[in-house]
Amino acid sequence: MKPMQKAQRIIRAYRRRRLILCVVLALLALILTLGIRYFSDRKQYQRDTTRYAAHAVETLDELLVPLDAARAALLPLVGMPCQQVHRQLREMAASLQTVRSIALINDGTLYCSSIFGERNVPVHQLQPHLPAPTPLMRLSRDRSLIKGSPVLIVWTPAIDNGTSGVLQSVNIEFISGLLLNPDPPVIEHVLFDVAGTHLEYGRGLVEALPTGDNLTRYEKSSSRYPFSVTLYGPSPGALALKNLPSQLPLAVLLSLLIGYIAWLATARRMSFSWEINLGIANNEFEVYCQPLVSGKTGECTGVELLLRWNNPRLGPIAPDVFIPLAEQLRLINALTRYVLIKTVEQRHFFPDSADFHIGVNIAASHFHQGVIIDDLKRYWYPSRPVQPLFLELTERDALPEVDYRVAHDLRQLGVKLAIDDFGTGQSSLSYLETLSPDVLKMDKRFTAAIGTDAVNSTVTDIIIAMARRLKIELVAEGVETEEQAAYLCRLGVPVLQGYLFAHPMPLEALPQWLEQRRAHPGTPFWRRRLPAPMI
Ligand code: C2E
Ligand code: CA
Ligand code: CA
Repeated sequence: MKPMQKAQRIIRAYRRRRLILCVVLALLALILTLGIRYFSDRKQYQRDTTRYAAHAVETLDELLVPLDAARAALLPLVGMPCQQVHRQLREMAASLQTVRSIALINDGTLYCSSIFGERNVPVHQLQPHLPAPTPLMRLSRDRSLIKGSPVLIVWTPAIDNGTSGVLQSVNIEFISGLLLNPDPPVIEHVLFDVAGTHLEYGRGLVEALPTGDNLTRYEKSSSRYPFSVTLYGPSPGALALKNLPSQLPLAVLLSLLIGYIAWLATARRMSFSWEINLGIANNEFEVYCQPLVSGKTGECTGVELLLRWNNPRLGPIAPDVFIPLAEQLRLINALTRYVLIKTVEQRHFFPDSADFHIGVNIAASHFHQGVIIDDLKRYWYPSRPVQPLFLELTERDALPEVDYRVAHDLRQLGVKLAIDDFGTGQSSLSYLETLSPDVLKMDKRFTAAIGTDAVNSTVTDIIIAMARRLKIELVAEGVETEEQAAYLCRLGVPVLQGYLFAHPMPLEALPQWLEQRRAHPGTPFWRRRLPAPMI
């Protein structure tokens, strides 16, 4: 894969990971918002149901309490002649708004009614379960005034006597109309239950209980009286679920907002810039050097510094990949500073000689407003290196950006300028005049073309001739074979660089390489006789 493609792939991978994270966060926000909404709605519906039932039971209790007091006053009247007590019965029934009628029963016969006055009806004809020896509360039908309408009868037997007592008929239909009306969608049916008989709002006494797949039941019994109120409605969970779609637009909006905030917040952390910054902070980059040798003597004339990145998270990344990315992300200056600092720290590995030069690759952006000069003054010159410094400017896209005044100021400082990868740019020649470089580094593809029929092999010869004419020092890059070296030497190329002499190596390996080279100079290829060059 081409380096640039790899770089783009890395950037795309970062963007994809960032996007996935943001989408996951947005989805989580959506689920959380809807979840919170669901649980709070469900709780609210549960609360509505219990509150409704509690309120109904409490109010019914309150309505029935005055009946207790009335009974205490009525019991002594049982057995007394109706004419004598009728007026009292009427007044009492009138004062108790919930009561439809009050009747006195003596020996199983209803003999006095608040409505009809004197009567003589066996009470069991009216209410089959009466008379009874114990107090009773029952839901029943009215058989005297509004025939068939539901009533709540309250029977209180006289002391020591199961056949006489007081019968109060409560207007329960009216009460239920006020108190027990359903409240959809939470409460669909409300039932008032007394001893297995049910009164439903709007339907009177009912035999069958409400049924339905999704109906749930909630019952609340009175602690004072033998009745309960039962509510039927959809389960709070089902209701809350049904409600969710109406919450969706707001929840989606919120999750989009969270996703967007996450996108902004991860801009730095989840990017390749972050990775490079992390690499710098963790010293993951290592400065390597590759020796350059003289075409005349074969001696080492200096080194070029090259960065290596052993990224523990992504594995080793080639400079062809991370350098263009660092340039794009405007981090290349930080990397160059790193090279300067690390090289100064390890300068004892270099020969202490003014004839040994050090080449640093520089991005053109570093020339802006003379930042490179400031950086050299800050990180390079304080250590007073004796070795001359070469700045290698690559031709690829950098040269048009170079500020020539800065180039001039650098020269004043004693820095030499080299045009790197010469021959690969588009308008190389014009820079020879404007930038007046000290060195041209002929790109390795021209070295590789030596001995082939390729057009480049002719261009190689032309570049060599041109550098000689212009009296600019030429370095041939990428020398891999003795044939290439011999050819270049015969044409008088003054400096060679390539795997034939050395691969890039850590700085600490340089002294040993220099030592070995002195001890075993190898084949003096530069003296070899080769066919005459074609120029
Ligand atoms: P470059 O400046 O042209 O560096 C020379 C490249 O050629 C190096 O690749 C080196 O390892 C490789 N090379 C040397 N001899 C031979 C050879 O005989 N045959 C072949 N095929 N290749 C050879 P490397 O180290 O992978 O660097 C690639 C590029 O990354 C460099 O090209 C340079 O443009 C950039 N680079 C590396 N380090 C730095 C740095 O610290 N700063 C900047 N700005 N750029 C750097
Ligand atoms: Ca270079
Ligand atoms: Ca180069």
